[in-house]
Amino acid sequence: MNYISTRGGMAPKSFSEILLEGLASDGGLATAEHYPEVTEAELEVWRFLPYAELAFEVIRKFATDFAPARLRGLIQKTYTARTFGTVEITPLVPLGEELALLRLSNGPTLAFKDIAMQLLGHLFEDALLESGGELNILGATSGDTGSAAEYAMRGKSHIRVFMLSPHGRMSPFQTAQMFSLTDANIFNIAIEGVFDQAQDVVKAVSADRGFKERQHIGTVNSINWARVTAQVVYYFKGYFAATRSNTERVSFAVPSGNFGNIYAGHIARMMGLPIARLVCATNENDVLDEFFRTGVYRVRSASETRQTSSPSMDISKASNFERFIFDLLGRDPKRTRELWDELEEKGGFDLSATPEFRGLAERFGFVSAASTHAVRIASIRQTLAETGVLVDPHTADGLYAARRFQRAGEPMIVLETALPAKFAATIEEAIGRAPERPPALADLETLPQRYVVLPAYAKAIKEYIARQTGIA
Ligand SMILES: *Cc1c(COP(=O)(O)O)cnc(C)c1O
Repeated sequence: MNYISTRGGMAPKSFSEILLEGLASDGGLATAEHYPEVTEAELEVWRFLPYAELAFEVIRKFATDFAPARLRGLIQKTYTARTFGTVEITPLVPLGEELALLRLSNGPTLAFKDIAMQLLGHLFEDALLESGGELNILGATSGDTGSAAEYAMRGKSHIRVFMLSPHGRMSPFQTAQMFSLTDANIFNIAIEGVFDQAQDVVKAVSADRGFKERQHIGTVNSINWARVTAQVVYYFKGYFAATRSNTERVSFAVPSGNFGNIYAGHIARMMGLPIARLVCATNENDVLDEFFRTGVYRVRSASETRQTSSPSMDISKASNFERFIFDLLGRDPKRTRELWDELEEKGGFDLSATPEFRGLAERFGFVSAASTHAVRIASIRQTLAETGVLVDPHTADGLYAARRFQRAGEPMIVLETALPAKFAATIEEAIGRAPERPPALADLETLPQRYVVLPAYAKAIKEYIARQTGIA
């Protein structure tokens, strides 16, 4: 299996070669040359596999240049009850007739990003042991991604993490989750500024190619292909848990931001998993909802991007979206490149008059809905009252969209993207009391914290990194 660029300008690469970069050399995104197909016979067997074995079967179709025994070992080391709380790893919880919740948030940081990131930690470490290299992961976070990356990479040899966050602007829980890590290879950098400034600094540092190469800088952002691949697995797991035979079809509702999670669902569907519809749930930042309703993709400016009570979905553009548009346009790299040129120039493009957009829902199963704060609060309340299950604000957005598109005879699975414990203020507003926390995290905020405060300048960050790596 080789990987190509959505814009056609990259020589085919192997899975290992794109492990550290989701971005293709021509500015496009790396994507599979074709999606591997799953046969009926395979589905029959896969239905009964434990999570790690299922993950191995799915991922080996993409990671064809990894020796199978080695890959299986890394996957088995990743998906354990010790790390994810249950032997099922992603248990399915019924919420009523034909509605269920796929629990993806019982990893170390209580958000679904752990599922892919934990595997990435093992894949990176293995690749570095083999090549003898080292890797310094640089990123900016406003919450979930940064902590998932740090918990996945902590204590790993030949890897350091430099994670920038806006000083004093994350929730006390999120701050404590990251800053209480005392592993020698984790560097928390609180930036004097807002998230966008932290992200701009990361971009500026990465734009210095000489520095990037010398310091072995890499990223683990949401366009990382291995992350996407690892997320394909739980669509299969959820499907098998919700059905009795492979002739049944189910739909998935996915709280979406950068379009990484639901894009993995799209891949599972393209591989042949019987998925009826993929329900894309957004919050007030409705870039994606607007596209699926109208065919117009219009990215938002920083000032148009709203701070909401489902903050991990507050995006102005969806970084994985180009991969889907590539598929929508019949995998035509020239048209994809033209659209992204237009996006660059005019801030958007319009596919409403094209046959591809008119046939989108029918061919690819996508539908969408956008929520608001009031809807989210009502969704949390309603779900608790009707089912006894407390969901986090992002999952609540997914549930709202799921209920809108539910139809008889077609089970709907909502992906749980975080636990309520991470978003105590919104939960209190919804139900009048704070959410419970996993006992291991009871005293999180009282643990000693380790971080440095630096100004939002690339120069200061570069100097700091060079001091830690010892590379001049
Ligand atoms: C990252 C995240 C999302 C959005 O996922 P994408 O893959 O970016 O679409 C939704 N909810 C939570 C809690 C997240 O952390």
